[in-house]
Amino acid sequence: MTKRFNLFLVIAALLIALPYYWFLLDNSGSQVPAKPVSMAQLRALAQSMPGARPHAIEIEVPAFQRLPGNLLVAGSGIKRKLVAYMAFRLPVAGGKPIMMESGLAASDAQAIGAEQFKPDVAARVNRALGQAGLILVTHEHPDHLGALVAHGGTALMQAARLNPNQLPPSLWAARLPWRSGEVPPPRLGISAPQAVAPGVVVIPAPGSHTPGSQMIYVQLANGREYLFAGDIASFAQNWQDLRGRSRLIETWFAPQNRAEVFAWLHMVRALKADTPGLTIVPGHDYEWLQDPFNHTGVTIGFKLTEP
Ligand SMILES: [Zn+2]
Ligand SMILES: [Zn+2]
Repeated sequence: MTKRFNLFLVIAALLIALPYYWFLLDNSGSQVPAKPVSMAQLRALAQSMPGARPHAIEIEVPAFQRLPGNLLVAGSGIKRKLVAYMAFRLPVAGGKPIMMESGLAASDAQAIGAEQFKPDVAARVNRALGQAGLILVTHEHPDHLGALVAHGGTALMQAARLNPNQLPPSLWAARLPWRSGEVPPPRLGISAPQAVAPGVVVIPAPGSHTPGSQMIYVQLANGREYLFAGDIASFAQNWQDLRGRSRLIETWFAPQNRAEVFAWLHMVRALKADTPGLTIVPGHDYEWLQDPFNHTGVTIGFKLTEP
């Protein structure tokens, strides 16, 4: 009887432990070559467009939630991480600001189970979108593109520069509530890094985190360099420790190409090794960005001018 009971305990433990390991801790699959993008290439593109470069990076957080660390950084532990849904504003001297990520709309926040949605902050982000001369997103998930689509309007859609996979009928984009006749034409490619404004370069990463994923390199007017990683590295730990998302998230909730994501994470690490002063901006890691010990140089809060 005892022997049988012990066997039962072992089998029960395996039935729990194995799926737990596989779906939340396993980080295998990282042995892939890095994507071949160099700092020299990014700098040359950033300087290929004459004109004033952005002079700051401002952040607003219209919504957030806390999730177990293992979900977005496999094997990082069950302690909950602050998942911030952010929007970034890059002011340009003598020109219109650039917006990166639109943040999400109230309905998106509800759909993804955000703990907090702050309507006053979302309104500030919407105002910033309205004043922007250029709007970019790292990808087409609702927490990055949602507010742009929900806010809508001709002026906003003219400022939006999206790649074809960030637009309907691409899977995630097609689920967003675009108003009829408002879907802009694709204004970005998906094959090679391209300059989009003085100091700003888009690095397409199609079919990685999502079909329309891209990273964005920024060289500020003072020469400081940033790489917006989007959800290829939602957290600093993703690239620092070379840890992908959990298979639980990757398989069911936000399917992504694991090998492609790892290949881009290798590129991020190679760029950082080449240029230690490069600041990697993780897609959701507000705590890391605002931590004074990390010297990220970002500004908390948009400094909006009156309309
Ligand atoms: Zn996201
Ligand atoms: Zn995403």
